[in-house]
Amino acid sequence: MSTYESNTGANVGNLQALTNSITSVASPFRAYLSDLHGKYQSLDEGAIADYIPELALAQPEWFGICVVTAAGQLFDVGNCDQLFTIQSISKAFIFGLALEDHGREYVNSKVSVEPTGEAFNSIVLDEATNRPYNPMVNAGAIATADLIKGNNGTERLKRVLSMFKRYTGRDHDINVPVFLSEKATGFRNRAMAYLMLNFGMVSDNIDETLDLYFQQCSIMVNARDLAMLAATLANGGINPVTQERAIQEQYVQDVVSVMLTCGMYDASGEWTYRVGMPAKSGVGGGITALVPGQLGIGTFSPLLDAKGNSLRGLKVCEDLSKDFGLHIFNVAKGDRDLEDWTAGRHQIDDW
Ligand code: GLN
Repeated sequence: MSTYESNTGANVGNLQALTNSITSVASPFRAYLSDLHGKYQSLDEGAIADYIPELALAQPEWFGICVVTAAGQLFDVGNCDQLFTIQSISKAFIFGLALEDHGREYVNSKVSVEPTGEAFNSIVLDEATNRPYNPMVNAGAIATADLIKGNNGTERLKRVLSMFKRYTGRDHDINVPVFLSEKATGFRNRAMAYLMLNFGMVSDNIDETLDLYFQQCSIMVNARDLAMLAATLANGGINPVTQERAIQEQYVQDVVSVMLTCGMYDASGEWTYRVGMPAKSGVGGGITALVPGQLGIGTFSPLLDAKGNSLRGLKVCEDLSKDFGLHIFNVAKGDRDLEDWTAGRHQIDDW
């Protein structure tokens, strides 16, 4: 299976994108990614998330890397068909939907955009305003999920799932055992929701909102989907393969800025310093990262570091950033020119 179409069953309907994805199979950039994959496959430090038994079923060797350019070229290596739960990566995109539902000012009155420097599940609210710190920590994500419109839980979930479909170009399912386990064991998240209810930060629809939050975390994706999510943001909110708009253009910068400042849990500062790409990770082992205007990266490897970020994913993004000069604040040229490499103007022996 080589093209985006055959891999995902998406109705591409765009000859240029299809041709691009066919040519990308044999490209030097894909060979480069293949080398990266080989370089980090043997890295077997870290641990698989096991706070619920379903997540512990992941295999430590699973490892997929996918890059999608803003022009719709797709390069994938390793386990890019393996499904896993999106977990916290969903938070960035739900934030975008909440902004579309209510606008910037109202959303910001319920959730701030300040990094916490604390773990994603910390029970801490801004003392002056009682708002959760940002949409990427659990408290802020629950407050954000509360804002998703719909007449009932099913309708709200449907809106969430169709949003993800607009980004990735394909249908997504919920992993029901993961959802039910999160729901059965998520006392800490429940406590945060009630604390926020106490301060008037969320509606009293707590059970429905928590269900939605646990369901959004249980959406199944693969590394290719994560690259498409990021590439769509990189492309101003339009999926570069299907050409469908996933989010209003005006809100792309909101989502992307919070990804940059808060997306990698309490390692966001170091990530921005080293890698310099807006990104979001999840305890399922995924990372989605983007270079605005250029490309989206999706990585999957379930071995996590102490802060909950995928170890191999971190390494891959760091190498890509360094080798191609992709750090968003970089003003020097990278060793390799991305446009040359993705266009196939370089051979693998050139480096
Ligand atoms: N569902 C998880 C939780 O709420 C999300 C964790 C994550 O990916 N950081 O604890």
